[in-house]
Amino acid sequence: MTNLWPYAVLVAAILVFYFLTGRRKEKEAIAIREAAREAGLTEPSSLHPKIDIDRCIGCATCVVACPEKTVLGVIGGKAELIEPTHCIGHGACKTACPVQGISLVFGTSERGVDLPRVGPDFQTNVPGIFIAGELGGMGLIRNAVEQGRQAMESIKKMPRTAQGNDYDVAIIGAGPAGFAAALAAKEAKLRYIVIEQDDLGGTVFKYPRGKVVMTQPVKLPLVGQANFREVSKEQLLEFWRSIESQQQLNIRYRDRVDKIDSTGSGFVITSQAGETRASAVLLAIGRRGTPRRLGVPGEDQKKVVYQLIDPQQFAGKHVLVVGGGDSALEAATSIAEQPGTTVTLSYRSEAFGRAKAKNREKLASQSASGRLRVMLKSTVKGIGEHDLELKTDSGVERMPNDAVIICAGGILPTEFLKAAGIVMDTKYGTA
Ligand SMILES: Cc1cc2nc3c(=O)[nH]c(=O)nc-3n(C[C@H](O)[C@H](O)[C@H](O)COP(=O)(O)OP(=O)(O)OC[C@H]3O[C@@H](n4cnc5c(N)ncnc54)[C@H](O)[C@@H]3O)c2cc1C
Ligand code: SF4
Repeated sequence: MTNLWPYAVLVAAILVFYFLTGRRKEKEAIAIREAAREAGLTEPSSLHPKIDIDRCIGCATCVVACPEKTVLGVIGGKAELIEPTHCIGHGACKTACPVQGISLVFGTSERGVDLPRVGPDFQTNVPGIFIAGELGGMGLIRNAVEQGRQAMESIKKMPRTAQGNDYDVAIIGAGPAGFAAALAAKEAKLRYIVIEQDDLGGTVFKYPRGKVVMTQPVKLPLVGQANFREVSKEQLLEFWRSIESQQQLNIRYRDRVDKIDSTGSGFVITSQAGETRASAVLLAIGRRGTPRRLGVPGEDQKKVVYQLIDPQQFAGKHVLVVGGGDSALEAATSIAEQPGTTVTLSYRSEAFGRAKAKNREKLASQSASGRLRVMLKSTVKGIGEHDLELKTDSGVERMPNDAVIICAGGILPTEFLKAAGIVMDTKYGTA
């Protein structure tokens, strides 16, 4: 008779291995979920998976399929959103689930998400105002590019009423949607302008240095097929910049649009640069909003930014980071690791209650070792070219300064859209 013991031992060893690995992964998932909860980061910002607990068999296929890695975890035999704010709506989990246990939804039962009402031609309830890209709920680079192109197809069919120096269309935002729309507007020989508060690339520009971007091939007007699937952020931006310069696109950077008023025959777009008139408006402003400013003298200087992209660029500099959330703490601690920096973290409250424990611990250890200085209950009074002033309980302190990073959150576009007359629908965990 065949001896089955070696096989039984092998099967038992495999089962034990899977059991232990599963337990370890579950522990890691619980730790990630608790850290997110402690920091109040429990609500996904846009399209995200909703798990049907009755169907879920806990196979973890969705966990592996998600390119962002820590969004989902299996706890107690069921999949769960463990780091909801990291979800960007890839939808790979839904496709991978073998039991159709995932649907993609906006908002949750606790917190509704406002989405503008947009027709199949990308037009809102305000005739002449169109929306493309993530603002309308459709995230991801490829979708945004495709929608920017399609929205311009609708806009070019409108009667051209622009006169004098007015534009046929003003495109607000130069992310993937606005960029593709600008190319399509040029191809259609429309008189167009793009107004962008920051830089070319939108959210892509703000990804951390070296991020691998997962995308799909897409057709760009005037350019043709772009066959990227996995590409670094820098390569993708370089590609877009080369097209911008070849096509000489009309983009006005560092200009934030604050208001859109209808004139009956077109629109007046009020921005920091003044008024721009156009027959139609394409809003491609994404959903991440406008960074909250401090409103202090000197804030308009180039050395003041609202997001850390590359800590290395601050090596050897005097840097002030402002804010008390995770992004402020992560910015301050990563810059403090660069050679020769002096970093000060200024926060107006008396404790960092909004940040994750691991970030607070890192900050405390760097502060104790003198790598950075924490100034609680302090506010920025003014920013000079080579220095700045911080106001504290004990008076005003002047310090040398080369760069300021303000992490004070963002103002979501909802009020801006409502003021333009656009109807919003609130979604509570529905598609
Ligand atoms: C960390 C992270 C990683 C991601 N990774 C991927 C990935 O790997 N693959 C993928 O496909 N997608 C990814 N995404 C999602 C993707 O970046 C977005 O879906 C996409 O950029 C949306 O494009 P958009 O043009 O609609 O908006 P955005 O890219 O958000 O661009 C909007 C632009 O409008 C400007 N703007 C906003 N308000 C105003 C105003 N009032 N006046 C003037 N300008 C204004 C902004 O400055 C911005 O430049 C990721 C997102 C994040 C946050
Ligand atoms: S893939 Fe589907 S069944 Fe498997 S853990 Fe995820 S939600 Fe559950």
